[in-house]
Amino acid sequence: MKEFINEVISAIELHEIKAYYQPQYDANNGRLVSAEALVRWEKADGTIISPMQFVPRLEKTNAITLLDWFMAEEACRTIHELGEKAVPIAVNFSKWHIKERDFARKLQSLLFTYDVKPGLFEVEITESAMSEESFSVIKEWAYNLADIGVKIAIDDFGEGFTSLRFVKDLPVDFLKIDKSFLANNCQDERGRGTLETVFFFANKLNLSTIAEGVETNEQLKFLQNMDCDRIQGYLFCRPMKKEDFLVLAMIDQVPTVESDNYLQRQGTFSSHSLLLRAIKDEYQLVIYGNLYKNSYYVMHADDSLEFDAPTAGIIDDMTAASIERCTTEQEKKHYDELLSRTSLIRAFCRGENRVEAKLEQKINGSVEKLSTVIHLMKHPYRDDILMIGMSRRI
Ligand code: C2E
Ligand code: CA
Ligand code: CA
Repeated sequence: MKEFINEVISAIELHEIKAYYQPQYDANNGRLVSAEALVRWEKADGTIISPMQFVPRLEKTNAITLLDWFMAEEACRTIHELGEKAVPIAVNFSKWHIKERDFARKLQSLLFTYDVKPGLFEVEITESAMSEESFSVIKEWAYNLADIGVKIAIDDFGEGFTSLRFVKDLPVDFLKIDKSFLANNCQDERGRGTLETVFFFANKLNLSTIAEGVETNEQLKFLQNMDCDRIQGYLFCRPMKKEDFLVLAMIDQVPTVESDNYLQRQGTFSSHSLLLRAIKDEYQLVIYGNLYKNSYYVMHADDSLEFDAPTAGIIDDMTAASIERCTTEQEKKHYDELLSRTSLIRAFCRGENRVEAKLEQKINGSVEKLSTVIHLMKHPYRDDILMIGMSRRI
């Protein structure tokens, strides 16, 4: 092992170890917006050795940190050379750096040496590296980085799904979606469902997304539809030598992805939020529920309605409370027959996918007449019956 490490160190000294750069593009307009630095070993005889052949071995010891710092310095030099044309560059850091004392301070002084704005430097760390450490250690490490102004990207995200909690409570800027999710050209329904969930999650937490390993137009279209922010992959560019990358970044960028009209450019989530806004304007209360699981959550409740049910809970409890709020015995019976969980399940089994009711409710002292529409549908993968209920004052 020692011999191997010495071989790598002398390769660095002999300038055989090189930083290649793979451009990342804005998913909407196809402009080059950033890049990832990827190591290559160019042997004296001209053969190029891929990182897969030496990085995993080097990663067994903390000797990998030498290589990563070398790459970080190379990236800083490149950003510096690009001057006004600089784009952010992401550098891969192995799990050992989480244990490295003064990691953030060391990075800060490197940025200072090359006069690089911290916002132009991105630290890529894999999801699995993070999940090996205790949360308090990761948290301190990440906040120290955020304090010096560099960006953090979680690499290979989604491989383990262990990091949902990590991500929620950390100052992370980007999720890099693992390329295995793009398998089968995004044609597989289950794979697509998983991807949609990951993007939904990122969108909820206001994180930017990067998809790597994009090779086909079908994948690109799907990712655009998901509101993915950046795209990296052979469809656009392979990792390239620094000289080629400098030329590419220096020339004025021409959009390469056609963007038609505004609405078409809206991905799933931004058009969803437009749609949701229109629904919220019309309905004071929107509730999502799973009738089989007997659970619901309130997607939207207008303040003016003073709806006092918990924001998430058991449908039967919510129904019981609503029945309590009905003004007459007849209304109570009516409510139970139309809108209780069992009545809704029965309606769905009869082939109805829409139930409507107009009912009076005592809400916060005053009597309100509410019109409620409930849409029923089967869960896309399971046998559950889902509902969206929308109520408005009349
Ligand atoms: P990674 O960080 O997940 O990097 C992305 C890998 O996907 C790169 O492989 C890249 O060349 C490849 N790739 C990009 N676009 C496509 C595509 O469209 N299709 C396919 N099939 N692959 C694509 P590469 O350069 O061989 O690097 C492999 C891994 O080695 C990296 O995976 C990273 O984990 C590690 N690595 C590379 N450079 C460094 C480094 O400086 N430090 C550390 N610690 N690890 C590094
Ligand atoms: Ca990476
Ligand atoms: Ca990756």
